[in-house]
Amino acid sequence: MISVKKDFENIPYPLSKEHCENGTQERTATTNEDRRKTVIENEQYDDNFNDRYKHKEIRKELGRIYKEKCAFCEQNQEIMHVEHYRPKTKYYWLAFSWDNLLLACAKCNGSGNKASHFPVENTAIVSPKIDCSDIDLSKINNFCKEYDELEKPLLLNPEQEEDLHFRFSFDRNGEICPTNSNDEQAKQTIDVIKLNRDSLKIARKKIIDDFEKSVIGKKVKDKGELRRHVMHEMEMLREKADIQNSDENFLAFRTYVVNEGIMKQIIKSAFGQSNQK
Ligand SMILES: [Zn+2]
Repeated sequence: MISVKKDFENIPYPLSKEHCENGTQERTATTNEDRRKTVIENEQYDDNFNDRYKHKEIRKELGRIYKEKCAFCEQNQEIMHVEHYRPKTKYYWLAFSWDNLLLACAKCNGSGNKASHFPVENTAIVSPKIDCSDIDLSKINNFCKEYDELEKPLLLNPEQEEDLHFRFSFDRNGEICPTNSNDEQAKQTIDVIKLNRDSLKIARKKIIDDFEKSVIGKKVKDKGELRRHVMHEMEMLREKADIQNSDENFLAFRTYVVNEGIMKQIIKSAFGQSNQK
């Protein structure tokens, strides 16, 4: 997982309180503000309004922010969902809130993984009327920080954490673990989303295997040529691991490989083999 920045000055228009378009006549009869009030009044998420949070403008903006990659596993997949950080089944009043919407792949968001799981350290908020006072709908797109302080979620949110990739470490086989073994949030996130599922480990390991093949398998006439080749391959690996500018998948992993010794170890073996020749 890596951190992403969401723009709160320009919230997609389908989430504005006045907005009202599409759908059946019955649905167009109400604005977002009315829909939110209805959901709160009924104390449950209303599937009739479900076109709202996955409106194409919202999907488009999330795709831009997340570079079309899943917020959790960092892959671009054929089926990507507009996903609720706090699940809409429990936090029904946040179903159409900008700071509660992420982009996630069908696997991470699927049943058995994230789905409606949302572990918290403190007590979960069960009603929009905290302290018995009415919810302030003017803040509906921006409740996350306030709620985080109260609940202390155990699921990491890429939009609320700085430099999130430092929270995770990896091994040579693509296995992910918390960098700090006491980091309960990183641990729970790995467990809930199943970030060590086989397909992810295999895909991450392949990045290292490909790099290894490119430097160790290369036929060269002398050490100078090997050095030039290795420098070039290293540069390519670094470029693809650039957290700010790269569009590649698995950036947390790639950065770890480049910065935490895995790349160096492989290079060392390449030169070791060359010495033996
Ligand atoms: Zn995913």
